[in-house]
Amino acid sequence: MIDFSLTEAQLDLQKRARQFAKDVVAPAAAEHDRTGEFPFEIAKQAWKEGFLNSHIPKEYGGHERGSLETCIIAEEISAACSGIGIALDANSLAQGPVLIAGNDDQKRRYLQTMTEKPMFASYAVTEPDAGSDVSRLSTTAKKIDDDTYVINGLKWWITGGGVASWYFVLARTENGPSGFIVDADSPGIIRGPKEDNLGQHASNTVRVAFEDVHVPAKNLLWKEGDGFKIAMKTFDYSRPLVAAAAVGVARAALQHATAYARRRKCFNKKIIKYQGVSFKLVDMAMHVETARLITWKSAWLYDNGLPNTKESAMAKAYAADYCMKATVDAVQIMGGYGYSMEVPMEKLMRDAKIFQIYEGTSEIQRTIIVASLMRGR
Ligand SMILES: Cc1cc2nc3c(=O)[nH]c(=O)nc-3n(C[C@H](O)[C@H](O)[C@H](O)COP(=O)(O)OP(=O)(O)OC[C@H]3O[C@@H](n4cnc5c(N)ncnc54)[C@H](O)[C@@H]3O)c2cc1C
Repeated sequence: MIDFSLTEAQLDLQKRARQFAKDVVAPAAAEHDRTGEFPFEIAKQAWKEGFLNSHIPKEYGGHERGSLETCIIAEEISAACSGIGIALDANSLAQGPVLIAGNDDQKRRYLQTMTEKPMFASYAVTEPDAGSDVSRLSTTAKKIDDDTYVINGLKWWITGGGVASWYFVLARTENGPSGFIVDADSPGIIRGPKEDNLGQHASNTVRVAFEDVHVPAKNLLWKEGDGFKIAMKTFDYSRPLVAAAAVGVARAALQHATAYARRRKCFNKKIIKYQGVSFKLVDMAMHVETARLITWKSAWLYDNGLPNTKESAMAKAYAADYCMKATVDAVQIMGGYGYSMEVPMEKLMRDAKIFQIYEGTSEIQRTIIVASLMRGR
């Protein structure tokens, strides 16, 4: 049986997230976009509402929301501002490796604490020479005695890196890439200034340098050599979430452009009456609906313990690519007005671009999908 309906609880969550987005996120979006300030106050309110770090299991004090539920929240918040949305959701990417590979002690020390107050963590994998090709990573973790590793290296483009309390760090050990939890206040960690990016200004992206950073051996996730597997497995959970955020932005673009096309007149007709305009809106509507379907399916597979690597790659690539196209088309429909910084349309277009780059570019998602096709899946 296929059932496309949300449960009562999911509908209620969607309604609450939509209201929160309308009352709290949307009014602050333009200001955070202008100043680039991190949304600490909004995060505090999101935490109170159960929208921040909400997928952490009940055993560790969390709400234990499933992937589908977090996608529902992400779409609503990102429809109001994806910069703020990603500032909140980047935590999930850092927490993923601990959820997947952490032992009870690690989960208590690093996940439970995040349910007790609003806190942030970052996923620190990318380096200047290792982006899509993570195998080129050069950060090292050297074991100097039974209890200690020493980490050296430079991580680049780390979302939330300037506000994080801890990092998931992928570093090379004697037995291959390994995953570590590293306290952000460890001596030897140097955080760079916030990067000046095209969009999603509320999100804090920095470089993080590790200079002889001593890390307790008890912070190694699983065992040496398993880091790459853990880092990649995390994407099965986080890609649906990013895809949902992209659906939110595309939906917002569609809503703004439709409202405008219904009132703007050219040559004595509302522009929505011209097929050149209305067909763009129709395509946007079809892609939003399709992107949401594959996103929710990939989340549902994850929640049911089924393989979703291919579907989450499809969701991420599809939602990101059509989010970009939708925002460009929406600016076009709004003409000169769409290009003006007075209205949020140009912000949606700037914010959309990053969805095709982080958490694996759209090209890398396609390499994942083709690998799955080649295996006959
Ligand atoms: C705002 C922002 C936030 C980020 N947040 C984080 C974070 O929190 N943590 C983290 O670890 N990283 C983060 N990243 C890094 C991000 O994941 C990388 O930028 C991304 O994986 C691409 O790597 P790269 O920039 O080195 O590009 P490259 O890997 O150098 O790629 C350059 C181009 O080549 C293409 N390409 C590469 N290989 C192939 C191939 N095999 N086939 C086809 N095309 C290919 C790519 O698709 C891309 O178009 C962030 C990046 C940005 C910009």
